[in-house]
Amino acid sequence: MTRRIAELLRAGQPDETVTIQGWVRTKREQKGFSFIEVNDGSSMGGLQVVINQDVPDYEENLKRISTGASVEVSGVLVPSPGKGQRIELKASSVKVYGEADPETYPLQKKRHSFEFLREIGHLRSRTNTLGAVFRVRNACATAIHQFFQERGFLWVHTPVITASDAEGAGEMFAVTSLNLKNVPLNEQKEIDYAQDFFGKPAYLTVSGQLEAEIMAMAFSNVYTFGPTFRAENSNTSRHLAEFWMVEPEMAFCDLDGDMDLAEAFLKYIFSYVMEHCPEDMEFFNARIDDSVLATAENIINNQFERITYTKAIELLEKADKKFEYPVEWGLDLQSEHERYLAEDLFKKPTIVTDYPTQIKAFYMRLSDDEKTVRAMDILAPKIGEIIGGSQREERLDVLERRIVQQGLDPATYWWYLDLRRYGTVPHAGFGLGFERLVQFMTGMANIRDVIPFPRTPQNVEF
Ligand code: ATP
Ligand code: MN
Repeated sequence: MTRRIAELLRAGQPDETVTIQGWVRTKREQKGFSFIEVNDGSSMGGLQVVINQDVPDYEENLKRISTGASVEVSGVLVPSPGKGQRIELKASSVKVYGEADPETYPLQKKRHSFEFLREIGHLRSRTNTLGAVFRVRNACATAIHQFFQERGFLWVHTPVITASDAEGAGEMFAVTSLNLKNVPLNEQKEIDYAQDFFGKPAYLTVSGQLEAEIMAMAFSNVYTFGPTFRAENSNTSRHLAEFWMVEPEMAFCDLDGDMDLAEAFLKYIFSYVMEHCPEDMEFFNARIDDSVLATAENIINNQFERITYTKAIELLEKADKKFEYPVEWGLDLQSEHERYLAEDLFKKPTIVTDYPTQIKAFYMRLSDDEKTVRAMDILAPKIGEIIGGSQREERLDVLERRIVQQGLDPATYWWYLDLRRYGTVPHAGFGLGFERLVQFMTGMANIRDVIPFPRTPQNVEF
């Protein structure tokens, strides 16, 4: 049976006979023998393989082996005399599956820029950095499920295609089966959606929250974890057109419970990744951002700062720092403000609560003075907003009033209002941008380098 290299590096014993499969990272030819390093994606480190010239087909195999070639090697593990590894594999047979012509294979030994690697999105996962990113991403996803499952949350699958625009969280992609070369028009010369697939306009979802609320009113505690879409025509290092979002929703829960859960959640994920991907995290700290390990420690060991929006504005007004955007009660916080609070002032994740009513969505619970709503954003050093959440408005009359005030049509929210009509309860939830989390965890500067296949304006190749 083929063994994974991560497992051999950790637990392989001298004299064990093993077979490995993977891709060659480097080859060094000596007189009478050669070294190759083989990586199978299971860990940052590859396994060093020694091939003596008496191994069958030595000359022919060596000609075919170069960086990027795929191989299978069988042999026996021996203690390694070389530096940096405990064991190595003494080959008794080598099979080359596929060559990788050194003249054209783009991933040679030198370091490539992330911009260049994005152009070879079909190959970049074979590099050290992207390999580490996607292992950490996998560990984050596992930790998320484990965290919620341990606490009795039901994983619910909210739809990708939706007719509701979830409070206008972002620009939406339309979903249609109409013939765009010959769009049917009605008598008013508008698009005749009656002839479209769903009989009305449909979109890719920007958030699963409203549907998660439906499920929370049956199962108490639920979470969604899936792709969301925003047609944001902005080229930033923090925005994707397709990204993954985690959205827990809890019945019988207020904003304090929501913040407690969010904080425990982030601490849990960081602890999990530190425990399961120590080598990858060391790599990020050494090569990408030398604050990665300190940040993880900081998250795990410190209580998050909690301040109101009103207090945040006071602090920003007092700041001895020039901001590009104005600071004024009633205006939304910009990323530079968020980073100042979390990065410069508190130097740890900061939860800002109770935002002005007019800058937040209609479903957030109105405070008694009606000036603020029970919203909370968690701001992370270097990233800015990583989590956005709120206690939801559970009072039917208030919710109806808020929908109308925002110029929305209550009729289209009939089922959302029904949740307040039948068995309503205080409830709360939040949304975590999964890629922002992976960025935060790894120190990767650009969000396009923490998702295998980034979708951004003008980019959908791989
Ligand atoms: P931002 O102000 O950064 O655009 P937002 O206010 O639009 O964020 P929300 O609507 O609250 O974000 O979405 C919940 C979470 O989803 C955010 O906290 C963030 O982590 C993430 N997120 C939002 N938009 C994107 C995007 N385009 N790409 C990746 N993650 C995103
Ligand atoms: Mn946005």
